[in-house]
Amino acid sequence: MSSPSNPAIRLMHQHKINDNCIHIDKTSFDECERQILQITRFFFLAFHHPETHAWISAYKTSEKNFNTPYGATIANAVQIALNILCGTRGAGLNYHDPKCETCIKYITLHEHCFIETLYFIRKLNKFGAKENAIILCEGMAENKFLDAMNKLATIIEEYHTHKIKMPFYDNINIKRMH
Ligand SMILES: [Zn+2]
Repeated sequence: MSSPSNPAIRLMHQHKINDNCIHIDKTSFDECERQILQITRFFFLAFHHPETHAWISAYKTSEKNFNTPYGATIANAVQIALNILCGTRGAGLNYHDPKCETCIKYITLHEHCFIETLYFIRKLNKFGAKENAIILCEGMAENKFLDAMNKLATIIEEYHTHKIKMPFYDNINIKRMH
């Protein structure tokens, strides 16, 4: 019998797509929210299997998708929200393996609730955000979780605002070079 610590056993993966999962293209989530979902999955994996050191991938993914200094700041904001959620919630959370090209195309109910909280905050729909937060937090400390998600949404907004202004800053730098 193989030991559970056998690397070959740990690398085995079975797709976990069931009837409760929906295809990512059937959601209203934009590219940014999909990137946050992938970062979230790496943190779920890191909490579930610390030996994977998946928080490194969470930060790397965030740095790759959001320019410095926003990448690390956004990953940190996701982690803070998840810390609050996992500290509040009694039951486990279903997530998909971020390294499986098949599973990442589908979203679990819990992942959907998490990203939809952010989606509704970004759409200024407080009621929708709170409804998802209550489900995720099982009615406990959802306001603390919502505060953390609001901070994440604020940083994302700042990132996009900064991106829009980037050509302006680039022009200033070019002028200074001469
Ligand atoms: Zn899979």
